[in-house]
Formats: sequence, C-alpha cells, structure tokens
Amino acid sequence: MCGIVGYIGSKQACPILIKGLRRLEYRGYDSAGVSMINDRGELNVFKAKGKVDDLVAFLDDKDVSGTIGIAHTRWATHGVPCRENAHPHYSSSGTLSLIHNGIIENYASLKEKLIEHGYTFVSETDTEVLVQLIEYYKITYQLDLLSAVQRALAQVIGAYAIAVLDRSNPDEIIAARKSSPLAIGLGDGEFFLASDATPLVEYTHKVIYVDDDEIAVINRHSGVNIVTLQGQSVSPEVSEVTLDLGAIEKGGYEHFMLKEIFEQPECILNSMRGRINPDGTNVHLSSVIDYGDKFINARRYVIVACGTSWHAGLIGKSLIENFCRIPVEVAYASEFRYNDPVIGEGDVVIAISQSGETADTLAAIELARSRGAFVYGIVNSVGSSIARCTHTGSYIHVGPEIGVASTKAFTGQVTVLTMLALCIAKERNTITEEQLHEALQELLRIPDKMREVLKQNDAIASLSRTFTYAHNFIYLGRGYNYPVALEGALKLKEISYIHAEGYPAAEMKHGPIALIDAEMPVVVVATNKALYEKVLSNIQEIKARQGRVIAVVVKGDDTISKLVDYVIELPETADFLYPLLASVPLQLLAYHIAVCKGKNVDQPRNLAKSVTVE
Ligand code: GLU
Repeated sequence: MCGIVGYIGSKQACPILIKGLRRLEYRGYDSAGVSMINDRGELNVFKAKGKVDDLVAFLDDKDVSGTIGIAHTRWATHGVPCRENAHPHYSSSGTLSLIHNGIIENYASLKEKLIEHGYTFVSETDTEVLVQLIEYYKITYQLDLLSAVQRALAQVIGAYAIAVLDRSNPDEIIAARKSSPLAIGLGDGEFFLASDATPLVEYTHKVIYVDDDEIAVINRHSGVNIVTLQGQSVSPEVSEVTLDLGAIEKGGYEHFMLKEIFEQPECILNSMRGRINPDGTNVHLSSVIDYGDKFINARRYVIVACGTSWHAGLIGKSLIENFCRIPVEVAYASEFRYNDPVIGEGDVVIAISQSGETADTLAAIELARSRGAFVYGIVNSVGSSIARCTHTGSYIHVGPEIGVASTKAFTGQVTVLTMLALCIAKERNTITEEQLHEALQELLRIPDKMREVLKQNDAIASLSRTFTYAHNFIYLGRGYNYPVALEGALKLKEISYIHAEGYPAAEMKHGPIALIDAEMPVVVVATNKALYEKVLSNIQEIKARQGRVIAVVVKGDDTISKLVDYVIELPETADFLYPLLASVPLQLLAYHIAVCKGKNVDQPRNLAKSVTVE
C-alpha cells in the first residue's frame, strides 16, 4: 500500500517524483505529497487530499524547485485522508521531512513519551511519531541523521519503508525498510527510490532491493551505502530489471483493468512458456525438479493467501487433491499466522501473492518456515519479498498488474497451480501418461479459447447496462466453479460497490435463497459436466422464485439456456480448466457494470494494490 518515490541528482526532482507517483498511484490514492530541498536550502513540503492530479493542481503556484526530493501517495491506516494526515510529515522544527509506508504499531506509547518531552503533533498518523522521534534523538543526543534514524527505528514495532530528508544535508536521502518494499534505482550520477521498480525502469535497469532491517544512505556524490539497523555495512546486490515500459501503460485501452483482462491469453502463454512442451507431452517446473522429494512425498499441502489469491488457492486445492491425491488445506494468511497452526516438517506450504509483498502472507511464510515446513511461492513481482523468503517458487510471468482489482494475476496463478498439480501427479504416478497428455494439450488450447470468450465483450457490456440498478448480486458455482463464483462476486464488490455474495450452488437453499426475488440477479457458473444435473436443479430453484439468472454455460447448451434470462457461452473444455475461461466473462461483467455506474475501476475507493499492512 502507498507509493514511495525519491530522487537525487542533477535534474529537477519534482517532475520525476510526480511521474513516479502516477506510476505508483495504484498502490494508494487517498492523498499525495512531495518534499524538496531547494537551492536556497529550504525544505518544502506540499500535499493535497485526493489523487496525484489534485496534488499537481495544488503545486501550480508553489516553489517546487530542488534536485533532491521525496514523494508519497497514501493509503490511510491511521487518520482520515486529509491534507494534515498526508505525507511527507515535517518534524517539529521543520528541519526533517519523512514519508512512510506501513504501520508503526507502538505509535501511541511513543507519541505519549514525545508529548512528555514537549513535542506537538499536527496529524493523527503513526508516521508523524516517527519523524518526531528521529528529530528527538538527533537533537537530544546531537546525532547525525543516520544515527538518529538507527536509534529511532530500534524503538519501533511495526512495518515500514521510509525516506527522510534533512534540510541541513541537501545531498542525502536516508531510507529504510522492514516488511514494506523499497527499491533504489542506480542512474548515471543520479539515484531513484521507489516502492517497486515501475517508476524506475524508464531511467535505469539497475536496481538494489533494500532488505529488512537495512538502512540506505543515498548520497549525491558518494552513491549508495547500505548498513544494518545495528550499523554493520552491507554490500548491496544490484539486480537487472527488465520491465517493458509498454507493460505499465494503458496501450489504447480505457482502463488498465480492461487491458489486463484482454492480455490474459498472452499472459497464460507466457506462464506456460518453457514449462510445457509445445506438443503437450510434458510439464516441468524447476521447483519440482529441484525439490522433487519435498513435493512428491508431502504429507499435506497448506495454501496460504489473501483475497483473489486465496480464491486461486481454492482452485489449487481441487487440482492437487484430484490429480495428486494429497490432502490440501487453504487458509487465509491473516488467520493462519495467529491460529497457532499445526504445521511442520513434511508439510508443504504454497504461498500465493501477486505483489509478493502481502504482509499477512509474508508473516505466514515466516511462521511456517520457523516450524520446519517447506515453502513454495507463487508470485508475480520478480525479486519481491515473498520471492526471496520462500525455499523455492514459480513466477506467474503475467507482467505488471496495475488495475487494483486483480484479473490476469488470478488466471496466471491458476495456470501455475494447474501445472504444479500435473507436474506432481506425473512424479507420483497418480495420473497416466495419456491423461497427462490430454490435460496438457487442453491447457495449451486455453489461450485460444479465452480469445473466443473475449469476443463477447460487447455483448457483456450491453448486458451489464441492465444491471446497474442492482444493490445485491449472488454468484453460484459448484466444484471447480465455486471459487470462480467467489472471485466473480469479489470483482463486482471491489469495483462497482454492489454487494455480492459467492456461494457453492447447493448451499443456496441453506440461507441465501431467502434473498431471491424478481429484483435479485444471480450469476450461475454452470459449465460442470460432472454436476450438470445438480446445477440445473439449483437454477430451477432460483427461477421458481423469480430470480433473474445470468448463466455461464458451455456453447450449445440448450437446456439451461432456455431456462435462464441471460446466457454467456464458453467453448468446451475439461471441468478442471473452466475456471480459466469462466472467470473472464465475470471480470468483464464486473468491469462494465462499474463503468456504467461511473466508478473509477482502476482505483476503487478504500482499496489498494499490494497490501503491505496487516
Ligand atoms: N500508516 C501511515 C498512514 O496512515 C502510512 C500508510 C501508507 O502506507 O500509506 O499515514
């Protein structure tokens, strides 16, 4: 959550900072601010409630000069979104300014102590406590900024990525991290700082990912120096980032979300590239090759994830149990980490996260590792924290996902889980060679079938206009399609703010059926060959109560089609592959309903990409 940007070099910092904030705006967007030190040695802070555009308008008549600066786009945790609570925050004397991503959990007790020492506060944030604490150590013990930051961070419980400017040293930015991402871009005589690589790639491909408990001193003349909280020097690893600029721009689409929905056939191909033989006769995942024994002989798998990734995890459970005959549990990472889980040697934990920075998933991984479990990650962001703290893992390779509501990352995760299940099943001999070939060949056909589904975009757009009146939606599915229903409902909630519930279709009669009337739209994912008759009965039950049914069916299905109000047809595939096809029209449905309602689909209210706070 929240985007951090920094610049130090010979150019004017502000335009670079603003451009960086725009690239990171998907991470948080309730307020934004910048701070620069100008040539006269003044430390300025300017901030505004709202989007980066609101900040830009506010900056119009301000002195934004300076070749060193930091900037922030906020996702509020402590205190409402308003100018006072926006970052950067000044220290009491006005000599320091600081931006922060994360939560200072013990901010209240620290604040009390600072108030006793005469400090006053202008915001409700936990962040302002940190900048005052740094100033307190700097002044009281006559420390330089680095030592004051070290002293202050030693007092802090919580998660942070921070960057600090000091008016008395216009050649240096000090940045630090614990559990929140931070990357430094190395340019030619200039340095950049950001929460992820997206704002950096147009200037440099050389990136240092700061690690937990590390502090980076970025000096205009002497470059980057990294030390630990305790002051030990660290030699940083410079990574080469190869992110295509086109991948982080809209490319002619009205919204990132629509672009990302349409990218899915290509993304899935990228996900399978080099892993499935082109003739569909074999599948390899390097993790299973390297750690075969762990995967094959696992006594149990535990999938930990949050949100959309958790839905992908539910599909993963069905895939692994069906193909590999190993029991799988799926846990919310936020519950798992505090539930004292029974986990240990012989268990394989699968951690799923688009950003690779999800705070709860990271904590769940640490816990599982500390108890002896083997941890495999499924992540999109290359070099992210989860990618680095798991024993092994597979990238989904779908490219940067900017729309806050996840689409291509979900289908990418399901694709990797499908390959994983088939890979393990092959090694365990729980699948015959013939079944494996059939499954892989059908998986290879999915991108083309997805393209067929995408051709219905216009039809789904006009169908969506019928439903902008709705205040509630129900989504139903069975078997592999149950998580698809959950994910469809989540998409609608996230971007249109319509209340939506996903249910296993047969569970409807144990409660939700009470909600059905002529006003209630019910989306039924009815593609299951195995459970066709059962789903048909569930639809009959809804129609008997006048519910308005939108059914996602297999092309040529004229039984369900005759019964329901609206039909979306999918090409035929195997039951275990329908999630990849059926989630696409549900993404489009949510997208178009939200657009019809005039909502900001890429930046829905209250949400943020990359949930780096718990
Ligand atoms: N906890 C801080 C605040 O509420 C930072 C939130 C963020 O990461 O944007 O201001």
